Amino acid sequence: MKPRPDILPSVTREVITACGSIFIGISFDEDLKPFEVFATMGKSGNCNASYINGIAIAISIGLRSGTNYKDYVKYLSGIRCSSVKFNGKGKTVYSCVDAIAKAIDEEVKNPVVLDYIRSYYA
Ligand SMILES: [Zn+2]
Repeated sequence: MKPRPDILPSVTREVITACGSIFIGISFDEDLKPFEVFATMGKSGNCNASYINGIAIAISIGLRSGTNYKDYVKYLSGIRCSSVKFNGKGKTVYSCVDAIAKAIDEEVKNPVVLDYIRSYYA
């Protein structure tokens, strides 16, 4: 597993899920690839917060061990739990795991995020 630098640039977004809001943080390495993922339930969250936290840690271990982030996006997107949330922006959050996978996918394609990470490493 790659060692973690003391400081990494990251972005955090809030996603409203059927379980409440989760804050999803993604830090990036100098190749503009996700290095680790954090996920924290907001105080209204009724999902098991430790489960969400554990998923993020498991993803981070994989990323730091060479797994391509695209594999997490591919295999975790669309996983459904018993309650589905329509966010009003034409997007559906099928589960908290789905929200994490889609957040990874969206951040790596977001030009504002990539500019920010690039400027950090410039
Ligand atoms: Zn949940």
